[in-house]
Amino acid sequence: KIGETQYIWKDGAFIDWKDANVHVLAHSVQFGSAVFEGIRCYATPKGPAIFRLREHLKRMLNSCKIYRMPVPYSLDELVEANRALVRKNGIDACYLRPMVIRGYGAAGMVPFDSPVEVYLPCWPWGAYLGADALEKGVDACVASWNRVAPNTIPAIAKIAGNYLSGQLIKMEALQNGFDEAIALGPDGMVSEGSGQNVFVVDGGVLYTPPIDGTLLPGITRSSVLAIAEDLGLKHVVQPLAREVLYTCDELFVCGTASEITPVRSVDRLPVGDGKVGPVTRALQTRFLDIVNGRTEDTHGWLTFVR
Ligand code: PMP
Repeated sequence: KIGETQYIWKDGAFIDWKDANVHVLAHSVQFGSAVFEGIRCYATPKGPAIFRLREHLKRMLNSCKIYRMPVPYSLDELVEANRALVRKNGIDACYLRPMVIRGYGAAGMVPFDSPVEVYLPCWPWGAYLGADALEKGVDACVASWNRVAPNTIPAIAKIAGNYLSGQLIKMEALQNGFDEAIALGPDGMVSEGSGQNVFVVDGGVLYTPPIDGTLLPGITRSSVLAIAEDLGLKHVVQPLAREVLYTCDELFVCGTASEITPVRSVDRLPVGDGKVGPVTRALQTRFLDIVNGRTEDTHGWLTFVR
């Protein structure tokens, strides 16, 4: 069970955590129409700071646009509401989960007849893939399930229904004794993890697959590419064949919850020598230093809540 906070912001006001309920016939419950975001707030020496809040909220509004969900709040209003949420709950490090859902109206599939509701919860949340994951890396497999094909269910929208794919991928991995899985796209090329983007290091060059209609354009992914640029590391966005996962020098997954998590084996084959590689460690260290306010935030990625 997660560590509950006291308040959730709902449509402009704070309500009690226990009162943030929806009806069983809410459209989002029946049909998966709940747009959401996952954002981390870090405890920095200058107080709690939310990482790339604006970019996350912009992606959320884009997800809503794709699904024709009118959101009655501007980007600026949502930024302020999220800051107020963390302040009101009196916490520092936490995970924020803004949600725009189709609530209870008509019981039918037509979305237009159900009201759009905005909820902003947050709660304390530690390392997603376990305490050791960031330090030692995780064991991954290649999922037998492929990601969605372009022009089926839009992969750039972060919406509940898309996570049926992630659930199948993650359950298969866990039940077969792996920590995480990397899924391929319909063309057999590397797509993404169940909740992370994928990076490969080979011959000192960083690679990640393009936004090809099968994967979520991760905010952490774009941060990693920016940090690679800062570090003068050659980085290439290009399609990657599955077997590159077995032959590369280093491999890692990244996402808001997972941050930068090294992958030490794929399908029981060690990645490189099975230890966390220097490029992964350099990117991870720089990322964690920025988000935790230990080094200068030259990109303007932190939004302080106070
Ligand atoms: N892919 C999927 C399917 C995800 O759920 C996530 C986590 N939101 C990511 C990639 C990484 O995205 P981000 O870095 O924006 O958290």
